[in-house]
Amino acid sequence: METHPLYIGGETLSAGTVRTIPLPFDGSPVAKVHDAPADVIDRAVTAAVEGQKAMAAMTNAERSDLLFRLHAILSSEVANLGTLIAKETGKPLREARMEADRGMQTLLNAAIEARQLHGEVIPIDGAPVGAGRMAMTVREPVGIIAAITPFNVPFNLALHKIGPALAAGNAVIHKPAEQTPLSAFRIAEGLRQAGAPAGAYNLITGEGKPLGEAIVAHPGIQMITFTGSVAVGKWLRANCGLKKITLELGNASGVIIEPDADLDLAVARTVAGGFANSGQVCISIQRIYAHESIAAKFTEALKAAVEKLRIGHPLEEATEHSSLISESAAKRVESWVQDSLAKGARLVTGGTRDYATIPPTVLENVPDTAKTMSSEIFGPVVNVNTYRDIDDAIAKVNNTPYGLQAAVFTRDFERAFRAARKLKVGGVILNDTPSFRADLMPYGGIKESGIGREGPRYAIEEMTDTKVIVWKV
Ligand code: ADP
Repeated sequence: METHPLYIGGETLSAGTVRTIPLPFDGSPVAKVHDAPADVIDRAVTAAVEGQKAMAAMTNAERSDLLFRLHAILSSEVANLGTLIAKETGKPLREARMEADRGMQTLLNAAIEARQLHGEVIPIDGAPVGAGRMAMTVREPVGIIAAITPFNVPFNLALHKIGPALAAGNAVIHKPAEQTPLSAFRIAEGLRQAGAPAGAYNLITGEGKPLGEAIVAHPGIQMITFTGSVAVGKWLRANCGLKKITLELGNASGVIIEPDADLDLAVARTVAGGFANSGQVCISIQRIYAHESIAAKFTEALKAAVEKLRIGHPLEEATEHSSLISESAAKRVESWVQDSLAKGARLVTGGTRDYATIPPTVLENVPDTAKTMSSEIFGPVVNVNTYRDIDDAIAKVNNTPYGLQAAVFTRDFERAFRAARKLKVGGVILNDTPSFRADLMPYGGIKESGIGREGPRYAIEEMTDTKVIVWKV
């Protein structure tokens, strides 16, 4: 079995202990990787200094073309990438291929945005001291960016950081999740084939804590872009000093279903938005508030729809629902379901575990104190509760430490937009699941869901500094 080396300064490096990556579904070995020692971060920074100089020296068109070439290379192997993603995450092949396709969208948009990088002319003579002067801004790369990515969407979420960072003239040190480093090796190889300067992209696999500590402590790293848990996000923010930081953290996505909603649509989109990738998506549906007049009908239809999902091995074409990332993750989700049942919730369907797999699980009448309501479950579990007045439902959706995305199903235009304005989140989706995301749109949270926005155009804003140039005329 192949042991993947690290990739630093355009060259491979074998350093650290070797670890086997298992297929999450059954624990069978898939590949071997290195857990890098923390001092490798310093080597990566040295390489990235050169890579960043080379990236910054390129024109917008050259950086854009580099990303278009990477897009062409990875597009030609998108089916293989799908299989690789399915192996490292345990998500069904059909979802893994969707992730590979979405990664191509992300890259395409990063390539387009690289050509659009621009500043503005400032009407500086609006201030008395500006008389007889002109001013303009230019956007400059922040420098070296550490990208720390999670296990749930390893390929596309990595490209959401790497694409914009390179588009803006930065260098990247990428630390993928321990469980899912495999697709990142393809990104490294693709960038090499595309002709990226040595050191522009550096891949370091290994454990989060020691590498994270080396990243926050290193003065040569100017920015951290992180997607992962709230606890680690808070730790990074508290310890990164004056480095720039963007954080994409958790959510417990709320959905409101009004009495006039298209129920068939709401059911179909809840199946997609609550159970895709076994619910291991930051914006997966977790808390559904169905109007009391339609809740029973909705729950019955949802039960029928989720029970039709084909559960099985992730690498079988027909499989629609497969395992979580590990047996221990599945055990945690199972225990949270038990906690809700003990607190008085009713089990509509699902709930039982088979190694790392939990079937789609629907709970109803779940108290706010239950963990499946109050914390991010990151598993295939949705809670259905009822409400009478939409303002109460909005208050309930807002009653969480999180604020990433939320959704409302209604045909009433005015109520939809009133709710959209009152929901305390980074994004509101009307008549679709809160897990809807087009890769070019601004994406990110408020409250404990994070800081900053992704989506190539918005990530580039975060990954550049504004410089103002003033001159006398
Ligand atoms: P999850 O619960 O989704 O695994 P984590 O926040 O633990 O979320 O992991 C997300 C990413 O953060 C992974 O790449 C992981 O290795 C990394 N990570 C974990 N702990 C730290 C840390 N202390 N500093 C930096 N990165 C970390």
